[in-house]
Amino acid sequence: MGSGHSFTAAAATEGVLIRPDRLGGIRAIDPKAGTVTVEAGTRLRTLNMALAQQGLSLTNMGDIMEQTAAGATSTGTHGTGRASGAIAAQLRGLELVTADGSLLRCSATQNPEVFAAARVGLGALGVVSALTFAVEPMFLLAAHEAPMTFDRVTATFDELHAHNEHFEFYWFPHTDHCNTLRNNRTVGPHAPLGRFRTWFEDEFLSNNVFQALSSVCRAVPAAVPAIARITSQGLSARTYTDIPYKVFTSPRRVRMIEMEYAVPREAVLDTLRELKAMIEHSDLRISFPVEVRTTPADDIALSTASGRDSAYVAVHVYRGMPHQRYFAEAERIFVAHEGRPHWGKLHTQDAAYFADAYPRFGEFTALRDRLDPDRRFTNAYLRTVLGD
Ligand SMILES: Cc1cc2nc3c(=O)[nH]c(=O)nc-3n(C[C@H](O)[C@H](O)[C@H](O)COP(=O)(O)OP(=O)(O)OC[C@H]3O[C@@H](n4cnc5c(N)ncnc54)[C@H](O)[C@@H]3O)c2cc1C
Repeated sequence: MGSGHSFTAAAATEGVLIRPDRLGGIRAIDPKAGTVTVEAGTRLRTLNMALAQQGLSLTNMGDIMEQTAAGATSTGTHGTGRASGAIAAQLRGLELVTADGSLLRCSATQNPEVFAAARVGLGALGVVSALTFAVEPMFLLAAHEAPMTFDRVTATFDELHAHNEHFEFYWFPHTDHCNTLRNNRTVGPHAPLGRFRTWFEDEFLSNNVFQALSSVCRAVPAAVPAIARITSQGLSARTYTDIPYKVFTSPRRVRMIEMEYAVPREAVLDTLRELKAMIEHSDLRISFPVEVRTTPADDIALSTASGRDSAYVAVHVYRGMPHQRYFAEAERIFVAHEGRPHWGKLHTQDAAYFADAYPRFGEFTALRDRLDPDRRFTNAYLRTVLGD
């Protein structure tokens, strides 16, 4: 297991569980080669901070940094990017302890068939012991957040995606309001949010106030549309410039559960409009925004962006609120658009579905048969998604 941040039972076991707590730390940084090698259990926070001290950074990442390097890559964790993909797509090498106890190193040139699969390996191919990521000299990102109507975001989505290195947006169900986030490289100057503003907006409003409002919504679901309208109208624009991990990530303390599917990028607007219509024509009361992100196609067998430019649509529910009907209806829409679920977020798909959804599914399962014929590394989740 990694840090236990998956919503699926990907890391749950009825057998022996290996915790990575003592397999953390930076093994080597090679600024000339532009790589860093970390022990598999290293938290992304530790990695980001160690790189920053050396004047280096990952190119792209998701929205928190509590996960381990191996856990995040193994399920295809991603942020948003026009040209830069998931964290696993930034790997240059990987070290695996396989079922027979041997150490297997892989990269684009060494055991390339293992590298093609093991970067998003779901824990099924062996114990990842170390990972080598591509890094680049530290850079600054100018972050621009601005509210926008649903119609305007969807009408200009292709431009917003094409004109920004990292574009994403949130739509607030029961309203026509969205919040857009555009992050682009800049030469500076460094102009971070002040300490008070960071605390007030990213901690107090995004966590404490949101937590309190979510609790009200859970107690009085009928109040959700009115609260959504008030809070989404209160959004205001903000602009700042900071180093990548301080722009990409923020604390997320409000407990929720999540489903996220990758659809072909060209299908994302239809997917979202159908999701909006479904919510509007139902009696569902959804208090969490829907998040839309993108990544370019990559070459990893079971990456959600394998072989196709992708957009991600994520639906969330506050912990303790019913999610079954919302997620089932959303999943029906995602599946109709050839969606591929995030391996670490709720879904109901099985091996038969994935064999269709991933052209390289057979390549992965053949490697699993070769590396772990006796299924030393398996659990109920893997039996469902990969087959016995
Ligand atoms: C608040 C929150 C925010 C999130 N934000 C994002 C986001 O922005 N983008 C996104 O894509 N996802 C996001 N996620 C999902 C999360 O990134 C993934 O579920 C990720 O896999 C969790 O990493 P972990 O270290 O907790 O791994 P775990 O959940 O503990 O394990 C995940 C998988 O990795 C395997 N694994 C772990 N370590 C090893 C190892 N050493 N060798 C072999 N297999 C291993 C496990 O067996 C399991 O299959 C978020 C989740 C939460 C709770």
